[in-house]
Amino acid sequence: MTETRQHGFDTLQVHAGARPDPATGARQTPIYQSTAFVFRDADHAAALFNLEEVGFIYSRLTNPTVAVLQERIATLEGGAGAVCCSSGHAAQIMALFPLMRPGCNVIASTRLYGGTVTQFTQTIKRFGWEAKFVDFDDPQALADAIDDNTRAIFGEVIANPGGWIMDIDAVAKVADDAGLPLIIDNTTATPYLHRPIEHGAALVVHSTTKYLTGNGTVTGGCIVDSGRFDWSASGKFPSLSEPEPAYHGLKFHETFGALAFTFHGIAVGLRDLGMTMNPQAAHYTLLGIETLSLRMDRHVANAEKVAAWLETHPAVDRVTYAGLPSSPYYERARTVCPKGAGGLFTFALKGGYDACVKFIDSVEVFSHVANLGDTRSLCIHSASTTHRQLSPAQQEAAGAGADMVRVSIGIEDADDLIADLDQALAKAAPSMAAE
Ligand SMILES: *Cc1c(COP(=O)(O)O)cnc(C)c1O
Repeated sequence: MTETRQHGFDTLQVHAGARPDPATGARQTPIYQSTAFVFRDADHAAALFNLEEVGFIYSRLTNPTVAVLQERIATLEGGAGAVCCSSGHAAQIMALFPLMRPGCNVIASTRLYGGTVTQFTQTIKRFGWEAKFVDFDDPQALADAIDDNTRAIFGEVIANPGGWIMDIDAVAKVADDAGLPLIIDNTTATPYLHRPIEHGAALVVHSTTKYLTGNGTVTGGCIVDSGRFDWSASGKFPSLSEPEPAYHGLKFHETFGALAFTFHGIAVGLRDLGMTMNPQAAHYTLLGIETLSLRMDRHVANAEKVAAWLETHPAVDRVTYAGLPSSPYYERARTVCPKGAGGLFTFALKGGYDACVKFIDSVEVFSHVANLGDTRSLCIHSASTTHRQLSPAQQEAAGAGADMVRVSIGIEDADDLIADLDQALAKAAPSMAAE
């Protein structure tokens, strides 16, 4: 497609970035299962290696199947460019890598995916980076946490798993006032429910493993660059604004403008960190993304029905889903993600830890797995699994206390999901069966 901007989301999720294969006419994007690509001649090779010409060299850096997916996700998010990589966690490191140095910090929301909390509290320390956790519902506390070594602000708009919704406009204003890039992990919302760049995010990261692929087949990640952040204004981002010794003194921002972060992500990030997405994974994700809006509408409709039913069940203490009128985030969700608050929520059982474990062991349609965003309905007891490495206080802050079950509502018949939950709750809390 030549002019993609005027098309709607449903059209772009099928077409953006793709065209019939020029060599064969293949209508579906082929899996370019090739490690390397032949140079036209020595001058062509030299131009590619000098970043004077864009093309395919070696699949650690670029691959035609992966390139289609990059353009598709960038288009759906309204970004200038995107870099795909091997997982959502790789995307987070790849997003921070050009911004950080030893001694630098990122300010992160307390409401984050459990794996991200672990990555940020433990692993990034080995690089000399630090994360400071702040309640993003308090913009003043966020502003106060920023210091001279802060290089980014990081959060999730629909936070996994606690049913929390970020006031992204307020957070983006703090980032903007401080001249810092706001990075949003948009995995749980997807660009169908929320587009962070329209609200001031500089970068968007995804675990494409989840809703974008949508069928639980492959892990992947993506970093979308809005193309709008001025990497040269403050002098704080020398990797992007200053001469790059590994490319004969090339300055990425000056040379590539709105695509500076994307080019750096490929030419330095993928080249030297090697967290590459393979073309098979890109293929599965391209197949999944074609139906993203259809699936998200069903995920949301089912989640709303199931959450409303659970809320009335005598064994259930509370349900944290921002799509329920009883949620403190209901009104915010209606402005931040008007098409729905996603397909992921938690609920607490009055019977605590033991009832949760019995419930998890009793489900039949739901699967007990550490994943989310699948067509299948999934459940997990976060406190004993995904959030196990966190302290009890961190678990509570992340919405993953010992009495909480997390569900990722799939696209099955809502009545079948409710019937399955009903029989599992009857086993978990026999004295509190539904009337
Ligand atoms: C799963 C997930 C991640 C990590 O992604 P992987 O692909 O598993 O590495 C990060 N953020 C959120 C919100 C997630 O759900």
